Amino acid sequence: MAAKTTIANAPAIKTPPSREAPKIRLYALQSALEAAKNTYPREFIGLFRKNEKGELSELVLAPLASYDLSSSSFNEWNLPTDISLTASFHSHPGYSNKPSEQDLAFFGRTYPLHFIAKLPFSLSSVACFDRNGNPLEFKVIS
Ligand SMILES: [Zn+2]
Repeated sequence: MAAKTTIANAPAIKTPPSREAPKIRLYALQSALEAAKNTYPREFIGLFRKNEKGELSELVLAPLASYDLSSSSFNEWNLPTDISLTASFHSHPGYSNKPSEQDLAFFGRTYPLHFIAKLPFSLSSVACFDRNGNPLEFKVIS
């Protein structure tokens, strides 16, 4: 008699983490890209707020942000404690949207999602990462 496959002895199915790709509203992302262009050659940093559907729907400016030539930062003690803020966005005034060491440290300490935009700050210049710095696919919705 052949061994029955039960849930208990079924081979583990290798699936990617079942987390759905984050969704971001086109308008929110475009607002951030516009801000990045206006702040260039300094870095821009902002936050995204999610709506009741879990979509990143609104750009929020970080309080007391300082936009420097080499790095953007804000005092994390001044970060709003609003739980609807779930993502950061910052621009790199260059052609890489890979997180720096400093970015990775920031990612790990703060929000679950992080966006980085590189030049020329178009929709295709944006990369999304989780708090460990792993790249994530994301969906732009209108
Ligand atoms: Zn960075």
